[in-house]
Amino acid sequence: MSFPLDETDIAILESLIQDGRKSFRQISREIKVSTPTVQIRYDRMINMGIIKSISPILDMKKLGMKLDLDKTNIKSQGTATKKLNSNLHVKIKCDYCNRKIAEKPSILKMANIQRFFCCPSCKVLFQDKYQRRIKAIMNSQK
Ligand SMILES: [Zn+2]
Repeated sequence: MSFPLDETDIAILESLIQDGRKSFRQISREIKVSTPTVQIRYDRMINMGIIKSISPILDMKKLGMKLDLDKTNIKSQGTATKKLNSNLHVKIKCDYCNRKIAEKPSILKMANIQRFFCCPSCKVLFQDKYQRRIKAIMNSQK
């Protein structure tokens, strides 16, 4: 089944791209359609999988990060996704020992979940401790 998007749908998408936190009422005022219409269209686009999720737009300068687009990260569906470089200068704590991570963290990637560790051995210890849960996450993403 194919379903063409009309001007209203596209206007909603464009509005959400600018700021994903907008309320339906804000969007409705902006694009001059009723709030229920915005809601119905929004829900439909969510259900159709056009809107996959609303992501926060981060102020990279405040976080002291550089935004790096990982162009090599292309999903199997053929859609390129923007990914933040994982080497960020944000104060994060080790997910295993809870110490502050001073330098480059060791990262464990499980599907779309990431865990950060202060050192490779914490990563290994975490993997041992949560082996079953990690496997369950991996399997659920297949
Ligand atoms: Zn640690």
